[in-house]
Amino acid sequence: MTSPTPYADRRIALMYHALSGAGSPSEGQDAHYSVTTAQFAAHLAELARRGGGASARDWLAGGKPAATLLTFDDGHLSNYTLATPALLDAGVGADFFVNPGRVGTRGFASWAQLREMADQGLSIQSHGWDHRYFTELTPAELREDLTRSRTEIEDRIGRRVRLLAPPGGRMPAQLAETARECGYTHVLSSRPGGIRDAAAHVLPRMAVTAQLDLATLQGWLAGRGLSRARLRYAALDLAKRTLGDRGYERLRARLLGQARSPA
Ligand SMILES: [Zn+2]
Repeated sequence: MTSPTPYADRRIALMYHALSGAGSPSEGQDAHYSVTTAQFAAHLAELARRGGGASARDWLAGGKPAATLLTFDDGHLSNYTLATPALLDAGVGADFFVNPGRVGTRGFASWAQLREMADQGLSIQSHGWDHRYFTELTPAELREDLTRSRTEIEDRIGRRVRLLAPPGGRMPAQLAETARECGYTHVLSSRPGGIRDAAAHVLPRMAVTAQLDLATLQGWLAGRGLSRARLRYAALDLAKRTLGDRGYERLRARLLGQARSPA
């Protein structure tokens, strides 16, 4: 049954991107999705009060009963310089979804840095080869992207890759099925919602943005506000499908530009 019972889905996965703070360049980062180290520290303190956090990999493997799953997309350098020390200090795991085609380029973590993170217990997973949206690939290109990105990360890191986060959250029909055929067990989407169990092959995630306030995060951790986030996402998703990806990006840039202009 899919009725939206409040508190029914208590576990959520958070989707972070870059962190911003001293000691890490912000080039290549989307300011909308960048969270300051102070915000992130407050989030970790909140998680510690509410059952802790873990990577989806460790939770799915049954090793960590943590209430909240932490994930990072894009492999920004700040994942290594800022997020990793904070996570290790807090004793919290996380999955990092990286693009092999971007690893080691300006603003992104290198293979050596990702290996160091993996050696410290963090989970390195696939975000596709070079961040091309999966909705823009032919079925054959999609298979190649999924297989090539998985095997490259496995070869470079020396650990299995079983989780996939689609770039931009763009999910062609059949993505979960194709991903399974290409060696992945789960797809971590950008659709908001709570996680009921590990049996679902597509797991929702709650996007953490610069504007997210602590009260909203606390609500999510208590199972509140997930339906509203789902509705908002559905409206944006409709805009994406109506305008196409490029039209949507233009609209988004304009709306964010307006939001940032002085009141
Ligand atoms: Zn991404």
